[in-house]
Amino acid sequence: MRKITDIVIHCSATPEGKDFGAASIDRWHKERGWAGIGYHYVVKRDGTIEPGRPLEKAGAHVAGHNANSVGIVYIGGLAKDGKKAKDTRTPEQKTALRTIVAEMRRRFPEARVLGHRDFPGVRKDCPSFDVRTQL
Ligand SMILES: [Zn+2]
Repeated sequence: MRKITDIVIHCSATPEGKDFGAASIDRWHKERGWAGIGYHYVVKRDGTIEPGRPLEKAGAHVAGHNANSVGIVYIGGLAKDGKKAKDTRTPEQKTALRTIVAEMRRRFPEARVLGHRDFPGVRKDCPSFDVRTQL
């Protein structure tokens, strides 16, 4: 297993209320020319946690920090207009995010838990909520 120093939370930057999963993201990322889904876990609106890229493999989710991180994405993060950043997590997603983050913390006790936007130089709102105070 590679060394994990960061557990990174993302949103899928899709409009509130729209349901997607790992298969859709895999397709979108292939369309960008990537080797399939760049995240390791996907948290759907109903709280289902779907596996993405295998943990053993580096993801493609945070520039310059993929080698030693795990990427977790929840579906949502934008208001219904598809533009404005919004914390659209359902109660089921909040619970599921806590579950998967707790599991990752157990497995990688020295890793930090951060939002994508907490990395220096990131000009995005992703994941549209404050990971450090809420997870
Ligand atoms: Zn992100």
